[in-house]
Amino acid sequence: MADVMQKTSREISLERAEVLKTRIVPYLEAREEIPLGLDLQDEIRERQENLKAYFNATEDEWNDWRWQIRNRINDVETLSKFIELTDKQKADIEKVGEKFRWSISPYFLSVIEPGGNHYENPIYLQSIPTGLELIEGIGEADPMGEEFTNPAPCITRRYPDRLVINVTNVCGMYCRHCQRRRNIGEVDASQPSENIQAAIDYVAANPEIRDVLITGGDPLTLSDEKIDWILTQLDNIPHLEYKRIGSRMPVTVPQRITPELCEMLKKHHPLFINMQFNHPLEITEEAKKACEMLADAGIPLGNQAVLLRGVNDDKFVMKKLNHGLLQCRVRPYYIFHAKGVVGTLHFRTSVDIGIEIMEHLIGYTSGLARPQFIINAPLGKGKTPMLPEYVISHGRDTITIRTWEGTIIEYPNKDAEAEYE
Ligand SMILES: *Cc1c(COP(=O)(O)O)cnc(C)c1O
Repeated sequence: MADVMQKTSREISLERAEVLKTRIVPYLEAREEIPLGLDLQDEIRERQENLKAYFNATEDEWNDWRWQIRNRINDVETLSKFIELTDKQKADIEKVGEKFRWSISPYFLSVIEPGGNHYENPIYLQSIPTGLELIEGIGEADPMGEEFTNPAPCITRRYPDRLVINVTNVCGMYCRHCQRRRNIGEVDASQPSENIQAAIDYVAANPEIRDVLITGGDPLTLSDEKIDWILTQLDNIPHLEYKRIGSRMPVTVPQRITPELCEMLKKHHPLFINMQFNHPLEITEEAKKACEMLADAGIPLGNQAVLLRGVNDDKFVMKKLNHGLLQCRVRPYYIFHAKGVVGTLHFRTSVDIGIEIMEHLIGYTSGLARPQFIINAPLGKGKTPMLPEYVISHGRDTITIRTWEGTIIEYPNKDAEAEYE
């Protein structure tokens, strides 16, 4: 018998859809205030024209990654031609510069707005020293204990089946939040080939190693020939299943991603690249194109962001970043909690902020847009994932769980008793 008061399944579905719509309203409002670099491309272009004029650079030079590296800006005088700086800010940069190296590619400088409050500018904070780097604190030079997980030259080994090879200390720029400051000396130095060879020999001699991560510094600061040489040797190790490269060049010097580089990398599948975008403003036309070229070369791309106070410690900024990355065919992989490295202590957030960010990604958005939030446990004890609590309690044969919206549900927790005869 049809009950006229009974809701149809369509009506129930429509009501539920209304509730779901309300869940996303705060993000839809917030995201309007969080531009991607792509949204500000006209301003960025204008700054690029000024930089080109200053350096007397042709279009070809500007698009040449070696020109970008050669012309990295690392003095206050040049910087102040493109960024408005107070005397205090200039003095701070000079003072920090005596202790910690800094430099920024002309391209990445073009992403920074010249005026405004620099201390609210996520690109400025990642690139230009502030007085806060001189805070004395509990920071260590090497909180990950890399020194004690170094069984062969260039290698960090912390896990049973995979390891890191550090091939250079050179980067496209020197990020203010760098967790490997102690390796970034005052002089650019890629590892001598015999050290890299010794690292490769270690991999060859240890058959349980099935995954090698090539990092630094930034491995994409090496020449195509050198990268080709490293990858070819790794290809020849039968027990190595695939290779990975960790690089921030697609973000800071996207000109590095050339057709020639992509042709070379293509020869070395399976190869994965993880990069480090930390803020939606870093997603410019240039960076997007770099990602697309790598993806077209058949390389699966991932992102390893670092959670940085004042830069991206916000649930909506992180969500917008992850959505922007997916549109560049980059899969969010990790968000790292910032470690206590000397000179970067001002970037630290609570762990709770990271967990809150995860709370607002899970369920609210696609699983594809959800990285893992990771604490790198002290002394090289390994990456440890942090999640909001979804298990409320264990009962006899049941488990009480919480859904992404906070609904509490009792759920069976028992093996089937049926037996095969
Ligand atoms: C991060 C890291 C890896 C790779 O870890 P995944 O969780 O597999 O991405 C391997 N070795 C070391 C020493 C690392 O720091």
